[in-house]
Amino acid sequence: MAGNEPDTADDIEDDDDDWMKYANAGFGETDYSLWDDVEPAEEDESHQQEVAMQLGTHVEEIPRAPSPAGHKHLVRKGTCDACLGRVGGKRMYGQTLEEAGLGVRASVLERDTHLANAREEQPLCPFCENLFEEVDLLADIIYDAIEPYDVGRLQLGARFPKDQIEEEEKLRKRFGAGGSDALKPALVEGIGKRLKERLGDIKLVNDKPDVLALIDVLTLTVELDVRAVYVYGRYRKLERGIPQTRWPCRACKGRGCERCNFTGLQYEKSVQDLVGNPMIEIFEGVEHAFHGMGREDIDVRCLGRGRPFVLEIKEPRKRSFNAEKLAEIINAAANGSIEVSSIRPSTRSEVVRIKDTPAEKSYTVRFTIEPMNEAEYAVLTAPVDMTKADVQNRSKKRRRQRRGDKGSDRTKPLETPIVVAPAGPSEDELKRMKKDELVALAEKHGLKKTGKKDDLVQRILDALPPAPATFDLPDDETILKVLESLNGIKLAQRTPERVAHRRSDLIRKRTVFEANSPFIEINEEGQREIEITLRCESGTYVKETVHGDSGRTQPSVAALIKAKCNVVWLDVGDIHAD
Ligand SMILES: [Zn+2]
Ligand SMILES: [Zn+2]
Repeated sequence: MAGNEPDTADDIEDDDDDWMKYANAGFGETDYSLWDDVEPAEEDESHQQEVAMQLGTHVEEIPRAPSPAGHKHLVRKGTCDACLGRVGGKRMYGQTLEEAGLGVRASVLERDTHLANAREEQPLCPFCENLFEEVDLLADIIYDAIEPYDVGRLQLGARFPKDQIEEEEKLRKRFGAGGSDALKPALVEGIGKRLKERLGDIKLVNDKPDVLALIDVLTLTVELDVRAVYVYGRYRKLERGIPQTRWPCRACKGRGCERCNFTGLQYEKSVQDLVGNPMIEIFEGVEHAFHGMGREDIDVRCLGRGRPFVLEIKEPRKRSFNAEKLAEIINAAANGSIEVSSIRPSTRSEVVRIKDTPAEKSYTVRFTIEPMNEAEYAVLTAPVDMTKADVQNRSKKRRRQRRGDKGSDRTKPLETPIVVAPAGPSEDELKRMKKDELVALAEKHGLKKTGKKDDLVQRILDALPPAPATFDLPDDETILKVLESLNGIKLAQRTPERVAHRRSDLIRKRTVFEANSPFIEINEEGQREIEITLRCESGTYVKETVHGDSGRTQPSVAALIKAKCNVVWLDVGDIHAD
């Protein structure tokens, strides 16, 4: 399942960080308190001179706004109305920047009529490079861009070249009134005001938007970041052979080839697709991601109340839904493979909770038993070297310093060698073989391959070393007693071989909290089949708990009853969370 791992909580945090980069454009404040954060102009002399030089005047002659001489200077330099209103220090509550700026300009022109054409003479506003003249255009662009989307909450942001921001800051601190708004939030706010008149029910917000519209002031374009829709639910997997998440075709890695019938998928169905594909259509999204509270193996069903999940629909055009109807549509399309319930709206933060919840689960497992010999028993009960788990936590440096350690992978527990005496198959095993298998076996050992099945069995038995002695199969009472004793048992589980390629090789302690309702019945082939429901700690490998996984799980049912256990099937019953 490499490459098919669920998102980790870390991934999600990272995304949030990205998001936050643009989230502080400062739009949405309705109370202006221009004088709250007045910053004293404490810049050093040389800096002031430098700025003054750039503006071609002498430093002593230019006081800051809101003094009349400061205002005059701003007007003379070609400052636009919006910036005059913004840095002039005369804006009153409820006034737009332009209204305040026009007021400042009027008072300057009363005294200095010759400045009436200052904007024509200096057509580029030194503060905003005339960006405020584009406010209507930008509002239009955003309006058109979000038109196809259901937007309840809209956040605006802007991307500026860094040097433009720094230049404006210098100018503003030198010539603007203390406490004036910075360029970026003021521009975003201006656009927001224009938009608000046209948006209807859409709310302009500072956090948790449905859509973030990011304005690029260099190109005068808008980039939309459409946030995903999250839907919570529980699924029951009623059919075996379905993976939880999409699993790309091994041959073509998802590109599509003959082997996967050009679906790009290793398995035609997955819980993710069965739940997500109908939702893509309903939400008119682009793709989906599946976040389950743990997962079951492909061949394991998931029953009971079902497993909690959050499905994420990326870039959806629609956001609202009727939960009941949605469940109906998914269940109808799944045609009995899976079934969803408890559908409701969810959030990005719930994904983290779902991922992090260590849920206890109930499993029902069914298995058959076979005789076990001494050697097999020795393998199942060979000491698990717990000290090796500890080695993994040591620093690399320390590990390197250990001598005699080169080339060996110290992250893996040591194998315990077990010497097994040469042994042939037992009479039982031979009798269960088909005739052509017996013929092949006879041939392999240079024996005559003629005669009836019984002749072949006898000939092989005579020629090969005797089968190792096996323990007697336990009686029903013993089996049931052992199964009941699993109640509260602590397991040492080394990562099973079957998942070793995607999980680090460790020995973990897991608890079986409850062992419920064991029973034994005879199957069609006359064998005993044993069934039990186990409530286990999150992360317990249940099949391994039964068959012992060559001693990697201890204790195991197989070791306790001294019989080989073959798992017939395993179901997840209830997931005890939510
Ligand atoms: Zn301006
Ligand atoms: Zn393929």
